[in-house]
Amino acid sequence: MISANVLEIFSSVQGEGKFLGCRQIFVRTAGCNLGCAYCDTDFARADFCRVESAAGSATFRAVKNPLTAAQVVEVVKNFCAVPTHSVSFTGGEPLMNWQFVRAVAEAVKSFGVKIFLETNGTLPDEFRKISAAVDIVSMDIKLPSIGRNLFDVHEKFLRAAADKDLYVKIVVADNTEPEEFLSAVNLIAAVDPKILLVIQPVTPANGICAASAEKIFALQAEALRRLADVRVIPQAHKIIGVL
Ligand code: SF4
Repeated sequence: MISANVLEIFSSVQGEGKFLGCRQIFVRTAGCNLGCAYCDTDFARADFCRVESAAGSATFRAVKNPLTAAQVVEVVKNFCAVPTHSVSFTGGEPLMNWQFVRAVAEAVKSFGVKIFLETNGTLPDEFRKISAAVDIVSMDIKLPSIGRNLFDVHEKFLRAAADKDLYVKIVVADNTEPEEFLSAVNLIAAVDPKILLVIQPVTPANGICAASAEKIFALQAEALRRLADVRVIPQAHKIIGVL
């Protein structure tokens, strides 16, 4: 029986990127292979998964980890009583549990939902193993200023996911260097200049400060010289006070 530690399962609206506002069911797996300073995921607790009692109720029950794929499929099935655009596998980094994600994804597709993967774009080999089950990929490009240069593995991931409904998200803060941002833009353009780029102004946390509007506009203008579609979309779920 395939199982994994899951942090939470709930029904809400997508708060970021191309599908902002779409109704989704979120399955947030524990664990990540990176450690970004602006990370807002609470990895400290993994003993229990908090499972929303009913879709959108924001009341939770605790279920002991690990959860089996069958347990998660049953929760998703119940939440699908509310018409739902897609099931979002998020984290952490869901591809660290790719066997579990694939098992759940293959089962819940029969409920008429799309499969949406939110990933840091650093595990291309694992992605290939679940690619057939995935419809939409929201891939982060991490800039070298997070402490590591991941561009080589990001390029591999972009090529592996290029046949999906793929968009790339780059979080921009006041300390984002234009040179590293443009290197990321060039990386995307080399794979396919039609890939949508979402510039996501950082939500200030852990001492990370917001970029000015002038800086964001300048980065967007430069990116639009190389890519067909570049949008500035902030995180919305904190603004409207939903999960
Ligand atoms: S990749 Fe995402 S989940 Fe992992 S540490 Fe960075 S922000 Fe957090």
